[in-house]
Amino acid sequence: MQTADVVLIGGGIVGSSIACHLVAAGCKNVLVIERETAQGKGSTGKSMGGVRAQFSTPVNIQMSLYSIPFYASFEERLGYPCDYRPQGYLFCATNEHHLAYLRTNYEKQVALGLKDVRLVTGDEIRTMFPQLRGDDIVGGSFCSTDGFVDPYSAMIGFMTWASDHGATLWKNTSVTGITRRDRKFEVATSRENVLAPVVVNCAGAWAASIAKMVGIDLPVEPLRRMLVPTEPFDGFPRSAPMIIDMSTGFHFRPEGRGFLLAWNDPEETPGYKMDFDAGFIEKILTRAADRVPVFENVAINPKRAWAGLYEMTPDHHPILGQSSDVPGFFFANGFSGHGVMHSPATGKILSDLILTGTTNLIDASLLNFSRFAEGRTIHETAVL
Ligand SMILES: Cc1cc2nc3c(=O)[nH]c(=O)nc-3n(C[C@H](O)[C@H](O)[C@H](O)COP(=O)(O)OP(=O)(O)OC[C@H]3O[C@@H](n4cnc5c(N)ncnc54)[C@H](O)[C@@H]3O)c2cc1C
Repeated sequence: MQTADVVLIGGGIVGSSIACHLVAAGCKNVLVIERETAQGKGSTGKSMGGVRAQFSTPVNIQMSLYSIPFYASFEERLGYPCDYRPQGYLFCATNEHHLAYLRTNYEKQVALGLKDVRLVTGDEIRTMFPQLRGDDIVGGSFCSTDGFVDPYSAMIGFMTWASDHGATLWKNTSVTGITRRDRKFEVATSRENVLAPVVVNCAGAWAASIAKMVGIDLPVEPLRRMLVPTEPFDGFPRSAPMIIDMSTGFHFRPEGRGFLLAWNDPEETPGYKMDFDAGFIEKILTRAADRVPVFENVAINPKRAWAGLYEMTPDHHPILGQSSDVPGFFFANGFSGHGVMHSPATGKILSDLILTGTTNLIDASLLNFSRFAEGRTIHETAVL
């Protein structure tokens, strides 16, 4: 039987970042187990790659304040690219309620140390992007260090650096069971069994099935999200930020020679639905053309559109840290649409908690699993 100091179940961006941070902190015998033949086939390879610090809760803002500078210096730190493009996020408010909400968030963000965020007027937005239908835009907020990364490259960068420095990745290997053996876990896999004192659940939208193996009911549900890339399109500036129309939730950003269009359908229901629904194209184009009239005639190839899974928790915040019922079993789950942008912070927090029992990056008790039983859920309203 193999042995490891830490077994990470799931080789997406979260497992890869935790491996990288553990190895950097001196823990060498780290094993990442991924059931697919290649990394990135879960949510990471489906992501829109948006990174932002413009959140409404302090803990999400703090996680971004670690993660975005990490992405900005990724290549310097790890020697691999992550394609961080600081083109910003621009939230466009269409009523006073939105504006008050953005102002409250802005004050929290600045108080926590975010330097590059500012409130903008409706006129400024209309001047910046005359292509937007701006008659109802009353203002907004913009942060220039928000932007995008390439999630696949970041994941590979984290994992390659970890492997270069001692970690091991088993691909094409499924975890099929977990059994307690004294103070360790025997992790049964389709390859061979592994004995380890620490096991971390990094299984993304499949996290509940891994938690079940140690008798825990984890409130993480899969929820389909769909993205629609346009064909090459020159009618909107390539330098644009992620632009969010707060009246409908429609948002978009430049990608390649076209744009990537996103909208979270409120009618979507939980489940492992991975297929792209062609009916979504009309729904999203209606919202797109309403805010960006030049998108009315944009070309779409439905075959290039895709669907993936968010891993949702009841309060839209991740579940991080050690289980109080099963010591040695850790969670890094439930990112509710923010797992790429928060993977650097998650790697640091989990590595700190595993190796030292504490972290100074956030107040980790806010995100522990016990918060659900204890009625301490926290509400994030800035979910895209
Ligand atoms: C359409 C879409 C757009 C998104 N946009 C953004 C965005 O703009 N910004 C952002 O930050 N986030 C975004 N997200 C969310 C983000 O992609 C996820 O939060 C993130 O990828 C989660 O990473 P992960 O490593 O936890 O999960 P995953 O990448 O899903 O990795 C989990 C891995 O666990 C493996 N696994 C599962 N069960 C087992 C088992 N039994 N044995 C072994 N391996 C197993 C899976 O094969 C998988 O590779 C988006 C998601 C989607 C679907």
